Amino acid sequence: FGQLRERDPEIAQILLDEVERVRGGIQLIASENFTSPAVLAALGSTLTDKYAEGYPGRRYYGGCEVVDRAERLAVERARELFGAQHANVQPHSGASANLAAYAALLQPGDTMLAMALPHGGHLTHGSKVNFSGRWFDVVSYGVRRDTELVDYDEVRDLALRHQPKLIVCGATAYPRLLDYMAFRGIADEVGAWLLADVAHPIGLMAGGAIPSAVPYADVVTFTTHKTLRGPRGGGILCTEELAGRIDRAVFPFIQGGPLMNAVAAKAVAFGEAMRPEFAEYARRTIANARALTDALAVEGMRAVSGGTDTHLALIDLRATGVSGAEAERRCAAAGITLNRNVIPYDPEPAATTSGIRVGTPCVTTQGMGPEDLKEVGALVNRAVRHPESTGEVREAVAALLAIHRPYLSES
Ligand code: PLP
Repeated sequence: FGQLRERDPEIAQILLDEVERVRGGIQLIASENFTSPAVLAALGSTLTDKYAEGYPGRRYYGGCEVVDRAERLAVERARELFGAQHANVQPHSGASANLAAYAALLQPGDTMLAMALPHGGHLTHGSKVNFSGRWFDVVSYGVRRDTELVDYDEVRDLALRHQPKLIVCGATAYPRLLDYMAFRGIADEVGAWLLADVAHPIGLMAGGAIPSAVPYADVVTFTTHKTLRGPRGGGILCTEELAGRIDRAVFPFIQGGPLMNAVAAKAVAFGEAMRPEFAEYARRTIANARALTDALAVEGMRAVSGGTDTHLALIDLRATGVSGAEAERRCAAAGITLNRNVIPYDPEPAATTSGIRVGTPCVTTQGMGPEDLKEVGALVNRAVRHPESTGEVREAVAALLAIHRPYLSES
């Protein structure tokens, strides 16, 4: 860091300011986490310099014998961690992993069935502003108005009617467990591939805190930077049958050279996720999300679907009379970072929203427990409903952070 400060003080200062920003507030963004020093060391290594198009032992560049060892380790660890027949650790991101998976299974114009964005699905699940919505004929399923849960009868009806070639299950803002076995049954009934996009809950699966999608899906796509607590990136697990198609779809179809520093950092993260402490982390992340959700419910902030089984909750703010966008601003002013989010059947547009999304991967990594999250819930309520108390909330946030400082633990 000393060299960076000397060579490029502007960027050095930005790095320092970002650490300060993170340490100065409570991070409740459900898709973020704090990586370990070991992951950061691999990420900031000379492996970034190496070109390694291809796969271990089959590269299009010389001098790959060392980085091959990193990729082999990453693949072996991913396969072992998730009990998967095949793993590809090269996708640069979750969106790239989905693009590669679609490229392996579909032709442009083919029909796919996936969760609607306003009900929790991701942009890459068929949004019109994304390649998925532009290149495929997308049919969307949602959640029921009364239960706010996926309606498997609706999914089955849509599958029977539209005969999709691919069914996608997985979401970006769905707080409950998905029934992968039910999706498998529907996919089998209509002869469709099943893709589980577990970008969000992958770490909870790695830690054994929730059931895995791997035994049911033909292809599982994921990100490494959310609950898994690794570097920013993506990955794909699949059956042996699809291994060649998936690998060719990642390279050479959608990517060139892999980011070997990120591949090494993914290997480190998989290794960390194999340890017993990570199982405890995954379990505690869910316990914390439940404690936070319960505390918010006491204050009249209703959890969509009535609660959570995962690391995140979607909160309906309509009873408070404060929009999601305003709540996001008020919380930010009080030192709590979270994001506005549409809730199912939201009467407000995406720029305003009636809800917020909260998640516990970060606060759990920094050592908070359910008692702390109860307090965080009360602070969120105060920040949202009583902007005149912003200063006091800020002080309470600082007191919590003095005990639980991010980027200090090796766990
Ligand atoms: N799939 C789902 C379900 C996600 O939630 C996300 C990210 O939020 C992605 C894919 C895309 O990941 P990335 O931002 O790494 O492209």
